[in-house]
Amino acid sequence: MPIRFSRELTRYSTGYPPKGCRYCDRGSKMVLYITGICAEDCFYCPLSEEKKGKDVMFANERRLEGDGWKEGLLEEARRMGALGTGITGGDPMLFPERTSEVIGILKSEFGKRHHVHLYTTGRFDVDALERVGNAGLDEIRFHPPIAIWKQFRFLGRDAAEGDPIEASAYHNIIFEARRRNISTGLEVPSVVDPASGGNLYSEGLHVILDYAAREGLEFVNVNELEASHTNMVKFSRLGYSLAGDSMAVEGSLELAVRTIGKVRNANPDSPTVFHICTSSYKDSVQLRKRLIRTAKRVARPFEIPTEDGTLLRGLVECSDPQGVARILMEEFGVPGELLSVENGTLLVAPWVLEDIGSRIDGVCYLSEVYPTWDGLEVERSVI
Ligand code: SF4
Repeated sequence: MPIRFSRELTRYSTGYPPKGCRYCDRGSKMVLYITGICAEDCFYCPLSEEKKGKDVMFANERRLEGDGWKEGLLEEARRMGALGTGITGGDPMLFPERTSEVIGILKSEFGKRHHVHLYTTGRFDVDALERVGNAGLDEIRFHPPIAIWKQFRFLGRDAAEGDPIEASAYHNIIFEARRRNISTGLEVPSVVDPASGGNLYSEGLHVILDYAAREGLEFVNVNELEASHTNMVKFSRLGYSLAGDSMAVEGSLELAVRTIGKVRNANPDSPTVFHICTSSYKDSVQLRKRLIRTAKRVARPFEIPTEDGTLLRGLVECSDPQGVARILMEEFGVPGELLSVENGTLLVAPWVLEDIGSRIDGVCYLSEVYPTWDGLEVERSVI
């Protein structure tokens, strides 16, 4: 059966996008934060305060902790019907033992075809690579620190043997990953130059993309630079502004398009596929499709999955939810599966409440919640 991609996925791709992205595009990839710890301190790091620098684990929005973390991991994967998992951090490769254990758990529970990709800085040794490779890692995405991107000019086919530069270590581990038949590429942000001049990030981006093309890496994912609550202050100090009413940094997408164009012109025979992941794509396609997929799977008889990926249900605020539930069943003949009392709140199928809500002793609402573990309420309106 041919695999269909969204138009948004292929809009900024020069070829067949990496497999990890194809699962994201269908909303079938679980996001696993394996730790918030990282040896780098990128100024653009988008990690939230809840995760950054802390050794915490999350499967999608669900915190994994205590003795039950493995059950939580599998339950979250089952809820959304995950066909793959993207392992991120922090840097997962700072914890190769934990990372390989997780890969092993996912592969043995969901089969070898459960696709696992991993995002890392590349600061680790061959033993760690061996571990995750043996556990079944399918795809690895390197994000070397931005401060050394320009050093990649000296690496690759024309590299002088034994160049005493930091980037050599990254080059070597990339080589080792490819040698082990792990699908290997780069995943880097498109960092525009600050208004105040200084560090020319755009030049570094060009150098590292050119390195990937010369080396014939399988793919390069370039992320449009995004502001978050944690990096916003640094961004404004550097003079960055946001594009329209989005969180994307102005000029980042254009820089990525321009740089990829130049690199492809200089390396016309390179097999490397370049792909730009835009900020709007992440929100409107990846996240939305995951929510839609989950909502359809977890909706109970009294909830309606919406096309925005939320669950719509009726809610009654009253002093005696059990008593009102009984009245609904006994006096109005509402089937038991169309209502539930949870945490002291009466939930009822929205169409039932719209029909008979005015005759109930309580305030009736339509409530829209995310199908996520925390069930965050998006909107509530009185019926
Ligand atoms: S490598 Fe990634 S997780 Fe680590 S500081 Fe940089 S952006 Fe944050």
